[in-house]
Amino acid sequence: LEFRRVLFRSVLNRERLKWLGLTDPLTGLYNRRYFEQRLQEEAQRTRRHGDPLACLMLDADHFKRINDTWGHQAGDVVLKVLARRVRQQLRGCDVAARIGGEEFAVLLPSTPVRHVQLVAERIRRAVENAPFLPDGANHSLSVSVGVAVYDRPISFSDLFRIADRRLYGAKESGR
Ligand code: GH3
Ligand code: MG
Ligand code: MG
Repeated sequence: LEFRRVLFRSVLNRERLKWLGLTDPLTGLYNRRYFEQRLQEEAQRTRRHGDPLACLMLDADHFKRINDTWGHQAGDVVLKVLARRVRQQLRGCDVAARIGGEEFAVLLPSTPVRHVQLVAERIRRAVENAPFLPDGANHSLSVSVGVAVYDRPISFSDLFRIADRRLYGAKESGR
């Protein structure tokens, strides 16, 4: 019995370590490593079966100001809330990841092209429409989003790159 308990615990630890290697500790979203792996897999599936695939890149606007005004810890809280709001707008099969800092990426498998912009817009509004810190003051935050849809055989890194380029387009045209 003791042996089984030890074995069980070691399996559990191994699973936990694996999990920790794939997620971002602050937000609980997937990390960049996992995202890139999934992107590659989903792009292969798309190439083989012709399923649509979309990639969103998100970046919090003027996030540095949040840290400068309210402190880094408050900034961390805002990032957690932001991640939760993004996740809430998605289906279970969608993949949301923190790519780094205040940047996030989302994969939408099997989503018709006409729905992709709606999802992006829904995320944008969910972020913008509620205050972020629980002290009553109305600290709002917005995100810029870049969208790329896999509609011809391109590499998975191209999909990512196109979404990123469009994100910067969104930044430049006013956030
Ligand atoms: P822009 O609208 O151009 O995106 O402006 P920005 O201020 O969001 O962009 P910038 O790249 O200048 O600053 C990003 C800030 O995000 C700076 C960095 O300190 C902050 N940041 C990155 N990771 C974390 C984190 O884990 N916690 C906190 N609190 N801040 C973070
Ligand atoms: Mg950034
Ligand atoms: Mg930013």
